[in-house]
Amino acid sequence: MYRCLFALLLMCASANASTDAFNGARALEYTRQFVSIGPRWVGSPGHAKAEAFLKKQFAKDNLEEDTFTMDTPAGPQQMHNFIVRFPGKKDGAIVLASHYETNYPLRNINFIGANDGGSSTGLLIEMANHLRGRTLDGYSVWMVFFDGEEAFKEWSDSDSTYGSRHLAAKWQNDGTLKRIKAFIILDMIGDKDLDIQRDSNSTQWLLDVIKRAAAKNGDQSYFFQEQTADSDDHLPFVRRGVPSADIIDLNYGYQNSYWHTAQDTMDKISAKSLTIVGNTMLETIRLLNQR
Ligand SMILES: [Zn+2]
Repeated sequence: MYRCLFALLLMCASANASTDAFNGARALEYTRQFVSIGPRWVGSPGHAKAEAFLKKQFAKDNLEEDTFTMDTPAGPQQMHNFIVRFPGKKDGAIVLASHYETNYPLRNINFIGANDGGSSTGLLIEMANHLRGRTLDGYSVWMVFFDGEEAFKEWSDSDSTYGSRHLAAKWQNDGTLKRIKAFIILDMIGDKDLDIQRDSNSTQWLLDVIKRAAAKNGDQSYFFQEQTADSDDHLPFVRRGVPSADIIDLNYGYQNSYWHTAQDTMDKISAKSLTIVGNTMLETIRLLNQR
């Protein structure tokens, strides 16, 4: 009897250990399936397929669709954010986010955004496999898939980050924003040659937590060797006082030469990079729960 129980405990322990490590190969496979849809700029048939893909991945998770219309240099555009919530025992939420659409001005060059919009979407879909099916011990974890991150004409405060600007304002109005302990946007995190910059517009203590999380697996050299000032989906949250971090590698190919080109394809990204970022995010959640 005791021996049986002990064997059972061992089995449980090893099962836990295997689910605790982030599966970057599976995240890469989700990315591959998602990116195979092709270009998915706002209003395109590919975008409708991308929406259907996300709905299918989260069919059992009560996925919220947030539909809204924004004025853009290409006229009024209907957009769709998606939100999924994994409840925790602690009051408050950690938000992990990505954008999922591809760049509108590049709609005629078969731009598929394997890294830009693809990699972080695949990573979050795999992250959900770590979070669903139980009440989390710490804070709730919410995932947001933003639409309309890219500019329609040329990047500016008013022509970019449509989805995050919409949601941050909405969540401020309904009081949701107050519940967010940390907001982390992941963007272009699949590059085989991973070097995530330290963003001076992000909340510095949150970056320090993320750096500490990366060090747990010996991955700190992939983070914050260079300093930048990023404009991304975190800014509408930063401006409203939410602790926020932009985890982005805007050094994609030699002198960022793959960025926003038809070269942003699956062969440029790796399971290893997704594993590094995924493990770092799992550890970041653990550290934030201790604060
Ligand atoms: Zn982009």
